[in-house]
Amino acid sequence: LTAAAIGILIYFQFELRYLYDHFMQFAVSAAAFSMGLSIYLYIRSLRAPEEELAPGGNSGYFIYDFFTGHELNPRIGSFDLKYFCELRPGLIGWVVINLAMLLAEMKIHNQSMPSLSMILVNSFQLLYVVDALWNEEAILTTMDITHDGFGFMLAFGDLVWVPFVYSLQAYYLVGHPNAISWPVAAAITILNCIGYYIFRSANSQKNNFRRNPSDPRLAYLKFIPTATGKGLLVTGWWGFVRHPNYLGDIIMALAWSLPCGFNNILPYFYVIYFICLLVHREARDEHHCKQKYGLAWERYCQRVPYRIFPYIY
Ligand code: NDP
Repeated sequence: LTAAAIGILIYFQFELRYLYDHFMQFAVSAAAFSMGLSIYLYIRSLRAPEEELAPGGNSGYFIYDFFTGHELNPRIGSFDLKYFCELRPGLIGWVVINLAMLLAEMKIHNQSMPSLSMILVNSFQLLYVVDALWNEEAILTTMDITHDGFGFMLAFGDLVWVPFVYSLQAYYLVGHPNAISWPVAAAITILNCIGYYIFRSANSQKNNFRRNPSDPRLAYLKFIPTATGKGLLVTGWWGFVRHPNYLGDIIMALAWSLPCGFNNILPYFYVIYFICLLVHREARDEHHCKQKYGLAWERYCQRVPYRIFPYIY
């Protein structure tokens, strides 16, 4: 539907560059909307039954619960608000903004083709978004869905942070063109492919195992049983290092920044922020898994002692 809407807009000669010229206005509007949505989510969560509250957003402190999300999976009928916001408006909006930046670059610099750097940034991030939508059921085993409530943190993250901050590389390239050679472009593309391969295979391995541990195609994987009935993988990607998926994601984040050159820190904001986010996320998940799996988690940590961020905490 979004593609059709964009096609119609372009057919009627609407300049998508409008998004570039009014970037801040759109971002502020999205922020206001996410605040309104968070207030709605908090108010409705007050009537939610105890078993539908998020374990982490049920402290009794208004500000904390409002921020982290009081209700786990708020729904209107069968429409799951968190699942929708996690996957659709922000991710698709990010791709649309990137496309607008590509068109703005061509228009402003009078180019008949987008620059190689812009093509790389757009293609890498499009791959990431298409992958998320193509494998959308994989999100069901992520922390955002299974553990975190739907409050300001995720509403703002999904609707403002993802589309307007993750598109900063493309935004930057419009005002600061960076010519790169074909060999450099090839090296960056290889880096992105390596990151993507690690990210996708690690996430799919865990997701397929969680969905059906007795799937004969996963018979080669070994796991430690736990008291909850779920197993912890000790071979494959999850036996190589804890949170292998984060490693792939960080490699890709670097590949998205490199086409912008080294003249400014802005295009590297994402990779720096993302490492901070994942360090904190890994700490949260380790703590959470330790509580959930107890001794089995300790055995897992002995079997797989390597971590992505070994010396941080
Ligand atoms: P994960 O997908 O890494 O899920 C963590 C969970 O996996 C644990 O809580 C545990 O849950 C399960 N698990 C851990 N170890 C094992 C094991 N050995 N065997 C089987 N299951 C195990 O968490 P995230 O939600 O943090 O990340 C999902 C993806 O999303 C990652 O690739 C991440 O990089 C990406 N991401 C991207 C963001 C972005 O802004 N671009 C933001 C956040 C995440 P359980 O046992 O209950 O199943």
